[in-house]
This record gives sequence, structure tokens and C-alpha cells, in this order.
Amino acid sequence: MRLANYRGRATIVIDGFAVDVQQASDGSLGSDPMTLSDLAHHDALRAIASAARASDWPPLDIAHLGAPVPRPPKGFGVALNYRQHALESGRELPTEPHLFGKMQNCVCGPFDEIVVPLGRTEVDYEAELVIVFGRMCKEATRENAWSFLAGVTAGQDISDRGEQFRPPVKQFTIAKTYDTFGPIGPYLVTADELTNPDALELEGRLGGEVMQHSNTSDLIFDVPALVVWLSRYITFQPGDLVWTGTPGGVGEARNPQRFLHAGDVLETEIEGIGTMRNPVVEK
Ligand code: ZN
Repeated sequence: MRLANYRGRATIVIDGFAVDVQQASDGSLGSDPMTLSDLAHHDALRAIASAARASDWPPLDIAHLGAPVPRPPKGFGVALNYRQHALESGRELPTEPHLFGKMQNCVCGPFDEIVVPLGRTEVDYEAELVIVFGRMCKEATRENAWSFLAGVTAGQDISDRGEQFRPPVKQFTIAKTYDTFGPIGPYLVTADELTNPDALELEGRLGGEVMQHSNTSDLIFDVPALVVWLSRYITFQPGDLVWTGTPGGVGEARNPQRFLHAGDVLETEIEGIGTMRNPVVEK
């Protein structure tokens, strides 16, 4: 299933048409898009999808897509999870994941503006696969890890490098969770829609120029490994998000460096999920 926050309402996207979940279920499911990331509702959603005649519904206008998970109870990002990005940043390859928080306030939609605060000159892009938890998860195993996930979406882990590396103490969370620093979308895609959910082509483009290109099969810690490691001591619940890390080609590691400025358009594309297109403003 391709699930969307369309005009603020839970929606199933079928052949380019927007099937409204509340209307199609005669009100037995609500309109809150958070419904979509709860696996408890997925059987009902699949029943709606298989019964719906898509062309009876309005054609989807992508301009009205919001974040498919607008209110994640919690969110984490993984630092240095692609070999190429670890090497370009001059660090050793990690032997266990390194994480930081991305709070609910940073989440915005796949076509929303990314706001660079006035005067911040080192705001960077990071194209990433984002996993979405779909049920309570504690002490997952590699074998059952994917069964805890409602699906995946594309995301950006926007980062103020000036704040992230401000001496004497590095602080990832604050630098990566400003308002609008976590666009996600355009859809929440269930794993069964993907040929191989552990090997997805991923690309980040700035002004049409390819800045990042990789495949999630190059993750140092793949999706099951992250779910296992994170759920050792932390209980996850429906709607929790993990930005799984970014490949090489980020702005701070380029020569010359390339940061986000007003007028930029940042595109993030993941195979089988779709493309986000976020304009950058300064204010
Ligand atoms: Zn990141």
C-alpha cells in the first residue's frame, strides 16, 4: 500500500487516485493520518484498498501531500551509517550505531519549505530512508525486525553544521531538529510494495544536480540491525521514526562546500517510494 497524508486526511493512493480512508470505511476508521502508521489498522486498510474502485475517487494533486507521519511520538537519526559518508567525514567506521534525536517539531511535508534561520550559513542536506514503526517493539530480533514496521518513507535530515560542531561539545540533536529540518514523504510505503526493501536506490539532488546517490544495501547497519539495536532498551510504538543515515556527498564534505540557501530546491528520491521536492527559504 501507498499511504498518504492528503489534505490532512488519511488516504490510500491507488493508481494516482486518492481514496479517503474515513469515507471509504464509512467512518469505522478515522481521518487522522496517524491511523496509517498503526499496523492494527492495516488489515482494514487493505480491505478498503482491494474493494475500492480507484477512479471513483479524486485524482491525487501532489501539492497537497503532507508528512505521512505528522506526529511521531519519537524520532531518532543514525550518524555515519554509510561507509562512503563515514570516510568523507574523516571518521573511523563505527562498530555500533551512533544516534541522536529528531523531535516531532522538525517534521514537515514532502513539498513544504525548509526554513534556514536568518544568519545560519552552514545548513546542510542529508537524503535518507526513514523507517516507521507500526506496533509496540521491544527486543526485536533480526528475523522479526521488519514485522514491527508499518513501512518506509523518504526523508531529509537537515543539519546546521555550525551548531552541530560548535566547540567544545558537539551536539547533534539540537542542530538537526529545528522546525522543518525533518521533511518526510511523499508516501508511507508498506514493505510488501518493494521488490527488496533492504536494497533501495536513493538520490539527493540540489537544483537538479545529483549530490548524493547510493543504495540502502550499502548501510553499515541495515534496517533489521537498527531495529534490533535500538529496541534493546527502548520501547517503540506506532509512528516512531528512524532516519537511517545518509550516504556520501553532503554539502560540508564537498570542495567547495555547498550549503542550503534561499532559492534552492532540494529533491530526495527513493526507489519505490517517490520524490520529495522541498524549496529552501531563509527567514
Ligand atoms: Zn542523517
